[in-house]
Amino acid sequence: MQPTHLVNQINIKYFTTVQNINNIEFDKHHIWHPYTSSVNPLPCYEVNGARGAEISLASGEVLVDGMSSWWASIHGYNHPELNKAAHEQIDAFSHIMFGGLTHDPAVRVCKQLLDMAPSGMQRVFLADSGSVSVEVAIKMAVQYWACQGRPEKSRLIAPRNGYHGDTFAAMSVCDPVNGMHSLFSKTLQPQIFAPAPQTRFGQPFSEDDILPLEELFVRHHHELAALILEPVVQGAGGMRMYHPEYLKRCRQLCDSYDVLLICDEIATGFGRTGKLFGCDHAGISPDIMCLGKALTGGYMTLAATLCTEEVARGVCEGSPGVFMHGPTFMGNPLACAVASASLSIIARGDWKQQVASIGSQLRAELAPCRELACVADVRTLGAIGVVETRHPVDVAAIQKRFVAQGVWIRPFGKLVYIMPPYIVSSAQLTRLTQAIYTSLKQLYG
Ligand code: PMP
Repeated sequence: MQPTHLVNQINIKYFTTVQNINNIEFDKHHIWHPYTSSVNPLPCYEVNGARGAEISLASGEVLVDGMSSWWASIHGYNHPELNKAAHEQIDAFSHIMFGGLTHDPAVRVCKQLLDMAPSGMQRVFLADSGSVSVEVAIKMAVQYWACQGRPEKSRLIAPRNGYHGDTFAAMSVCDPVNGMHSLFSKTLQPQIFAPAPQTRFGQPFSEDDILPLEELFVRHHHELAALILEPVVQGAGGMRMYHPEYLKRCRQLCDSYDVLLICDEIATGFGRTGKLFGCDHAGISPDIMCLGKALTGGYMTLAATLCTEEVARGVCEGSPGVFMHGPTFMGNPLACAVASASLSIIARGDWKQQVASIGSQLRAELAPCRELACVADVRTLGAIGVVETRHPVDVAAIQKRFVAQGVWIRPFGKLVYIMPPYIVSSAQLTRLTQAIYTSLKQLYG
């Protein structure tokens, strides 16, 4: 071990050196990015501005955004109404503890959420991020049954190919194989998995699709607290779009077997699939619902776990009489103010037309990708377009081509997908779809 004064000298020297490293180099050596290697990091591009559906790079390129910053920036970047809400709130107060205090931005956003949510949602828990809202949903379900005198109902059931976040309870209900978390399997609560729904959205529903889940309900209902799933679109677990009838049957099974239904609408919520919520395709209401991502129009992190009055009461009936969760930044006023402005834009309803026309353009313009030998499948729903390749793509190589063609698309595995901001223009969207076709053709034929 080095003497302290020597370590300090080294640190000071290193710190001065570090100050002189350019951003990309510093980033490469010192900053973690989502799911990247510290040993062999993928190239990273530096952003110095974003407006509407465009992202400006420090190197001068302007890129059409195909990702909405992972389903979140649905109204585009630098939106005047969202900016105004943030400015006004920061001038009032940006944060205040939520224990024993409340405020107008929180009340406003919760009123708006309950107004637009599927029927029956009566109570809102404001959480910090999507993963945390899933933790909260799972805790609600487990605490609900414990308070009903049925503590043995503490396990979750989930379809395979699901994705619900990166924290521990959320990881436990992600697909056990492709859910990115198999490394932690020994630490995770063992849950029950059903085969993923197979009938695709838009195809005739196959009765066989629900049978395996039904069998698992028959066998396990006595120990099941809840079924958790992503309505209609399984996102990060495969970008799979399935038949809403599956969802309807899930609701019926939950009712018949006394199991709560948790709908994770973190990715599907706020119009992305063509309906306000994925649940709306099936006309069902969950017992507990998770929202996040687009909740603040992608401005900052905020999520919400909504539940019925029955769940809310049930959770607090027995000992300890309170719901056992309460983060420091719960109900952050700044995030709530921006979320409220975002929900006001949604409530005006322009998204319906925007998502519908993005959807038809995606269908038409991604169809030619089917002719490429490297492409296994092309599918679209709402403002989501997916091109699945036969083999995983080389992310760094394809991204370089995308940037050269003026678009921002971030594939993973075999999935090259886009979900642009709703305000994307038709010409911008064409640039995105053409870049996918051209890059796949150039790289893989
Ligand atoms: N649920 C779903 C359906 C998601 O798509 C995600 C994020 N991709 C999460 C939960 C986790 O959200 P967050 O990244 O905000 O923690």
